[in-house]
Amino acid sequence: MQRVDELEAENQALRQLLHKLTNDAAYNESVMQRFQERELGLLSAQDLPDLIERLTTGLRTSFGLESVRLVLLDPYGVVEELLGALGVQSCHIPHLYLERDVRATLDRYPDLHRPWLGPWVRRHQPFPSPQTPIRSEALLPLRQPDGLAGFLHLGSSDPKRFHPQQGTEFLDRLGRLAAVCLENAVNRERLRLSGLTDGLTGLYNRRHLDTRLAEEVARAKRHRLTLSCLFIDADHFKQINDRYGHAAGDQVLIALAKRIRDQLRTSDLAARYGGEEIAVLLPQTDLENASRLAERIREAIASSPVETTEGGTIPITVSIGVATLPQHAEASLDELARELLELADRQVYRAKETGRNRVCAAAPDA
Ligand code: GH3
Ligand code: MG
Ligand code: MG
Repeated sequence: MQRVDELEAENQALRQLLHKLTNDAAYNESVMQRFQERELGLLSAQDLPDLIERLTTGLRTSFGLESVRLVLLDPYGVVEELLGALGVQSCHIPHLYLERDVRATLDRYPDLHRPWLGPWVRRHQPFPSPQTPIRSEALLPLRQPDGLAGFLHLGSSDPKRFHPQQGTEFLDRLGRLAAVCLENAVNRERLRLSGLTDGLTGLYNRRHLDTRLAEEVARAKRHRLTLSCLFIDADHFKQINDRYGHAAGDQVLIALAKRIRDQLRTSDLAARYGGEEIAVLLPQTDLENASRLAERIREAIASSPVETTEGGTIPITVSIGVATLPQHAEASLDELARELLELADRQVYRAKETGRNRVCAAAPDA
């Protein structure tokens, strides 16, 4: 009889163990499935902003966490510039932190060769706190072949969610995948941008201007919006080359491009149209505001000479033509686009003829 009881007890214990193992297996499978879904999500991101969104808000939602932040080391402002070229200001992307000062950033964190899990540490959190207090956190390093690119910072209100004894295999893998995806996305954006930009000035090239001009003209017509264009031509540039040399002339062009870009909004588009000619598209800008901007650009260029790397200074001025898209024209979109550029170009000639270093605007619907 006792033997039967023993067997029954043993049977019961085995059943319980089996039940627990089955539950554990189901739980592990669901965890693995969730990780796999996240991984697939990261791999299928459309572009850099989409990837950033999936790494932050996406992970936070799918893991049920209180906060996920993406910290990227960006000492040369490369990521910031790529995002800017996509029309996105990095400071407006929630949960993204671009750190210029690499040393100061890394000083705040433990050695990040592997994921770090543990109770919340104040100095890891220079960011604004989420509404729910964070009690435990995980830092996942994003390692790339040329060093640490940054890390993902996961925060939970549950003090037991992340602890030092926890296995980190899944999180480690997620961090590695995120690092590769980020590297690819940044390289893809760089490549895309290099095909659209001019190597010397970093402005967009003429091909891209043509594409965007067609889009902007179509948009302006469809939604009855204003669209203006500036044509900027450096004055007596040949003389600058003759007097200071071609290399110094190049430096002047780079400085011109920067001074122009500094005056623009992210929605404006400046392109190198030809040698020393730059065209600027100004969506949702009327002739008056475009002329005012042109005057600011002219002034910013004329007010101080360009300082060369050799220590010299080169004074430079520009002539600017301003035109706005005709409102009532019956012409095709292609014709309108061409007309807008021609109108602005014609105004440059007028500015040249009347003494250079000035802005000339076309009469509305000229
Ligand atoms: P204007 O005031 O009438 O515009 O006089 P300009 O000398 O600027 O006019 P022009 O169009 O005759 O000369 C443009 C010069 O710009 C000629 C060309 O050598 C120079 N140029 C074009 N592209 C580059 C470049 O990439 N680098 C340098 N250094 N010079 C360039
Ligand atoms: Mg010219
Ligand atoms: Mg010129």
